[in-house]
Amino acid sequence: MSDRPRYRFAPSPTGFFHVGGARTALYNWALTLRTGGTFVLRIEDTDESRNSPEWTQGIIDALSWLGIDSSHPQFEGPYFQSHYAEQHKAAAMRLYEAGHAYWCDLTPEQVQERAKESGKPGYDGYSRDRGLEPGPGRVLRFKVPSGVTVVKDLVRGDVEFSNDTIEDFVLLRSNGSPMFLLANVVDDIEMTVTNVVRAEEHLPNTPKQQMLWEALGRTPPMWAHVPVLVNEQRKKLSKRRDKVALEQYKEEGILPDAMVNYLMTLGWAPAGDEEIVPWARIVDEFRLEDVNHSPAFFDVKKLSAFNGDYIRAMPLDTFIDACAPYLATGHWPADRFDQQVFNSVAPLVQTRVATLSEVPTMVDFFFLADADINEDAWNKTMSSDFAKDVLSDYCAALQTCEWSHDPLKAALETWTESRGLKLGKTQAPIRVAITGRTVGPPLFESIEIMKKDEVIRRLNSALARLS
Ligand code: GLU
Repeated sequence: MSDRPRYRFAPSPTGFFHVGGARTALYNWALTLRTGGTFVLRIEDTDESRNSPEWTQGIIDALSWLGIDSSHPQFEGPYFQSHYAEQHKAAAMRLYEAGHAYWCDLTPEQVQERAKESGKPGYDGYSRDRGLEPGPGRVLRFKVPSGVTVVKDLVRGDVEFSNDTIEDFVLLRSNGSPMFLLANVVDDIEMTVTNVVRAEEHLPNTPKQQMLWEALGRTPPMWAHVPVLVNEQRKKLSKRRDKVALEQYKEEGILPDAMVNYLMTLGWAPAGDEEIVPWARIVDEFRLEDVNHSPAFFDVKKLSAFNGDYIRAMPLDTFIDACAPYLATGHWPADRFDQQVFNSVAPLVQTRVATLSEVPTMVDFFFLADADINEDAWNKTMSSDFAKDVLSDYCAALQTCEWSHDPLKAALETWTESRGLKLGKTQAPIRVAITGRTVGPPLFESIEIMKKDEVIRRLNSALARLS
């Protein structure tokens, strides 16, 4: 057998793919690539009430979006935990036969009752020495040995658990079905996993799992428990409170490279001052030992800033192609969209957006029959005493102005100076009349891209509305 490491990612298909899961997957993937190992994808689909095939497909699609491609030679799987129930049960029976497990006929209520009486929480080992045979209503419990269990964790260091705080936990339910903890270990053993890198929430289960590895005669894997992601209030990211679905970020126009780079800098940083680095460098430099122990703040604003940098670094053609699906959601009549116009304005837009979903609103005025005038923008800019004059005088100047941004700007500058005003102020009503908003791509460049008749028509229609 090869001595190359075997990493694994073992998500449960019970909901949208979480950004925390994405980070764990990327850690495993980066380590797999650097070490020449294997990345095993195992779908832990044993909770029938919460699973669905769409979530499984969602996991595969999300991984592929992140660059973890199932056709890569170092990718193995997906395996499905539900296909291995027989192996899980067989392992439980081996534990029983080797004296590491025993049957117990107490109901959960009886277990609770005894705990209440003794004042000690959990199961008290009541059936350890009763020598019960398997039978209806009986669960199989693991006989937790005395002593301590030291979990060697690459992120957390050595974590010591006193075994007397761990109850004899259930391996097989009374209906014979295997418990998750057992299934998870048996799968890791069968899939010859050598490195388990997963979320911190699994750390409390790890001593139990390590005992199972040992009782099954195997060397436990290298463990690494990755700190949780928290929101601005330092609360653990939650489905209900926070935007956690990778899919949502994708829809918003976060680029996969930006997401990957951002996720990898949560609690870890590449050498030097630069945080924005290519994936190949991350693969070279990433070490679990360097991952910070404390919870990592998932900062949506910082993610946007990363994304803006990634957008600006794209070749123009790539940017234009990447915008296509977002432009398809623009609220203009489809037949009014003009790719040539968009291509001309694209360089101006590329420097001004942080996410691709901002693009349609920024350029809609080119494709709408009329500017979609924002009321606040109108009220703010059209109440000045010069609004009417600037609209009408600029409109007149346009008739003879050379149709290029410099002269278009110069014409307004001349007017502005003659009134002792500032261009920043005088272009505002013009911008709102033409684009409908106070912010957008540079005004004179935008006017240049538009047809003269249309610009004049919009200025006139604003004037009509003003009087
Ligand atoms: N299926 C578990 C989860 O999604 C992961 C367990 C593990 O990584 O060992 O939380």
